[in-house]
Formats: sequence, C-alpha cells, structure tokens
Amino acid sequence: MDLHSLVKDSSLIQSGAYINGAFVPAKSGATFDVTNPVTNEVIAKVADCDASMMEEAVTAAHAAQPAWAAKTAKERANILKKWYDLCMENADDLAIILTAEMGKPLAEAKGEIGYGSSFIEWFAEQAKRVMGDVLESPFADKKFMTLRQPVGVFAAITPWNFPNAMITRKVAPGIAVGCACVLKPAEQTPLSALALAELAHRAGIPAGIINIIPGMDAPALGDVMCRDERIRKITFTGSTEVGRILMRQSADTIKKISLELGGNAPLIVFDDADLDEAVEGAIASKYRNAGQTCVCANRVFVQAGIYDKFAAALTAKVAEMKVGDGFDDGVVQGPIIDQQGFEKVERHVADAVAKGGTILTGGKPHEMGGTFFEPTVITGAQKEMQVYSEETFGPVAALFKFETEEEAITLANDTIFGLAAYYFTKDVGRVFRVGEALEYGMAIANTGAYSSEVGPFGGVKASGLGREGSIYGVDEFLEMKLMVVGGI
Ligand code: ADP
Repeated sequence: MDLHSLVKDSSLIQSGAYINGAFVPAKSGATFDVTNPVTNEVIAKVADCDASMMEEAVTAAHAAQPAWAAKTAKERANILKKWYDLCMENADDLAIILTAEMGKPLAEAKGEIGYGSSFIEWFAEQAKRVMGDVLESPFADKKFMTLRQPVGVFAAITPWNFPNAMITRKVAPGIAVGCACVLKPAEQTPLSALALAELAHRAGIPAGIINIIPGMDAPALGDVMCRDERIRKITFTGSTEVGRILMRQSADTIKKISLELGGNAPLIVFDDADLDEAVEGAIASKYRNAGQTCVCANRVFVQAGIYDKFAAALTAKVAEMKVGDGFDDGVVQGPIIDQQGFEKVERHVADAVAKGGTILTGGKPHEMGGTFFEPTVITGAQKEMQVYSEETFGPVAALFKFETEEEAITLANDTIFGLAAYYFTKDVGRVFRVGEALEYGMAIANTGAYSSEVGPFGGVKASGLGREGSIYGVDEFLEMKLMVVGGI
C-alpha cells in the first residue's frame, strides 16, 4: 500500500516527532514501523524517540505556555476554530490515514474524524466561558473570589482504538484554556497524531504548545512525563493496568490526573424492551470498531422471557455483517488490531465453549486470515467464563440469562469496572430505577450509540478518574485559585 498515493495531500503524512513547531527525526536516527493491520505491510517508518526527546519537548512546552496562556480566550478560540476547519476540510485524508494504520472501516474512520474534530470546535467555544466566582464575603472589609487558571504543561498518552478522537478530546480542552502539551500516541497509530499536528501547525497554534513524541519505549517516555516537575497534569486513555502505573509514578510530583481506563460494560435487555431497538443497540455497542472500544458491551444480560427471541434476532443480524479490509465497500468490521488482541478473542471464545456456551454464529477466525475474527454470538454464558470478568475487546457477544431486575443490577455491578452500562426497557419507572442503581459513569437507556462532545465521558471505580468532553471537560485542565482582597 502506497499511502501517499491514496491521500490528496501527502504532506499530512509525517514521520518525524513534532517538537517546538517542527517535525524532527529521532536524535538517534531510530525509526519504528507502522503497519497496516490487514496486510501487515509496513506503511511508514516513524521517529522512535527516547526520553531525552521527551525532555526536550517538555522544555519547549514549558517555555511556550505562558505566552499562550496570556492570549485572550477569544484569540485562542479563533486559532482552535481554524484547526477545526482544517480537520474538516481534510477529513477524507485523515480518515484514510486512520484506516490504513488501524484497520477500522473507512466509514467508521470518517465518523471518528467528525467526532474527534467536534471536540476542537466545542472547546474553542468553551474557552470563552471559563469563569471564576465572586463569593459572598464573611468580612465587611474583604472580598473573596475564585480564579480559574490553566494548570500549565500537561502530558497525554493515547491508545490506538481512536487514533484521532482520543487526542483531540484531551488536547483541545487543554490548549483552549491556555495549557501546553506533550503527547505520546500509541505506537500502532502515530500517523493520525502527526497529521493532527501538521494541521494544528497550519492553523497557527504556536510552536511548543502541542508536541507529539512517538516512540516504542512507552515506559521510558511515560516515566519522564510522570516525574518531570514542570508537567502539572497527566491525562491517559488506555488499560487499567497502565493507568495504575502512571498514577503510582505521578505520586512523587503530585500531579493532577485524569484516567479513562478499561470497562466491562453490561448491556441489559428486559422483557419489556423493544426488541428491534435492543438488537440495534447491541450491534452498535458491541460490534463497533470490531468490539475494540472501552464502552463496547462486554456482558449481555437478557431476561428469560425475551432471551430466545433476542438471541435469534441478534444472530440473524450479526451473521450478515460484512468483514474485510476497511477500504472495501460495505465492510462493517475490520481486523483485530494485532496478534495479541486476536489471541485474547480466541481464548475467550474457547473458554466460553469449554464452560458450556453455545455458538450461534461466528466463533472462529475469519476466512480472510490474519487477525480477522468472525462476528460472534454465544448463548448460555455463565459467570465462571472469562468474558464475564475480562474485557474481550473483540466482536463477541456473550448472552447471560437473568430472571429479575434486582438480579440484573447485581450482575451488572459485579465488576471492578464502571465505565458505560446499557439497558433496554420501555418501563419509565425502570428507566430511572436501573439508571440510578448502575455503578457506572455512563448509564445509557434504549440506545447503543451516544458518543458526542456534549456528554461528559468517563468512568468510576477501576474505569478511571475525571470526565472528558462536555462543559466539564475543561475542569481537568484548570486550577482554582482563591483570591482574597482585604483593606477595602
Ligand atoms: P492497549 O491495550 O490499548 O494497548 P495500553 O494501556 O497498553 O492499552 O496502551 C495505551 C497507551 O499507553 C499507549 O500509548 C501505550 O504506548 C502506552 N503505554 C503502555 N505502557 C506504558 C507505560 N508503562 N507508561 C506509559 N505509557 C504506556
């Protein structure tokens, strides 16, 4: 695959680190391969940065941040709006780059570019609405107020499953309120990150405000991010395991932390659900991105009275899903990102079958070969199965049977995770009862698709800390200062 010939503007394909406003090779000259997950073909060689380059980027960000923060919010907003416009103008190319390095179907990639860009637009607007308070003073001669100021330099670490949107959801709010950032993209998907940097550059975001440091040695780069005193905040999306490491490493420098970690989403179908709506919701939530999102339904709990009907209707739809190269027409499911991810899916299916599950459709590697896996539905799922306690991160729906509302809530909450939970019911009372009882950051009734810049995204328990997007997203990048003026 010659990626350069697929895009209209090949200057969006960058291979250097983006530090202090310029694309630069690794000091050591080292590069790493970016591959297309469909063919395993190398599509680019990208600078493999070491810790010293991360430090250089922190120095640049630290030097540039005060002048950026000193601009008016309106000035920063106007520059962000330009960045947004450029992303939309180049959406087709950004989607092609994304599909090439990550494998999701092109239509889904385009959807992600729209979604990712919406955060830039939204936070350009929100930048102008950062407000402190004037408090009612307990003293006649003193005034009390709060100021909200940028934290300073922040570090961001992002995953491969949304190579564009997970970057904009962190970088846009941070820089909108006057911070500067150093970002390490996932090693599988650095090209989408560098393309965003190229467009940020063209939009006029000053040198040093956004720095992108790709590299294979994530622990070494992450270590600098956590230990450098000049970095005041770390924001991470990825596994709970790495989230714990980052939190531990950030203890010495007491950083502000936000973490979007793993999930183990329940999707509950009650007897009184609208069957078509539940099936459609399950497909949207479970099979998007080949099941590789942290809000994908992982455990599907179906009430006894609708279990067989739901299983049959879901199976009929899933069996029709077209699997293939994300660049081919009509494909709705691409490959699993890599061999390790593929093996986990195989392991979960084998474990479910060994423990009494029945495969209604799929259940094995797809005839496309490589890391393609058939969209799968399994009935007779049990608590002892791996899929009950671990995120599959693949296109496998395991259907558990339950009898009562109380049982469904207990099962849904029986996990260390608490990111998204879905439920389907037409009983209004139940919508509220269940929504309040779910120990999750996001309780979603009667739909499987809700991603938007408007809703606060985030989890509780081992799924993380903080919220991204929405009117609350800027809070993660602001400090509150009390200001008291006496002698009045
Ligand atoms: P995934 O299973 O989605 O790859 P990870 O949590 O392993 O989830 O990866 C998410 C991001 O975290 C990637 O950018 C990866 O390079 C980075 N990462 C992995 N290990 C570390 C670490 N020890 N320190 C800092 N970043 C890390």
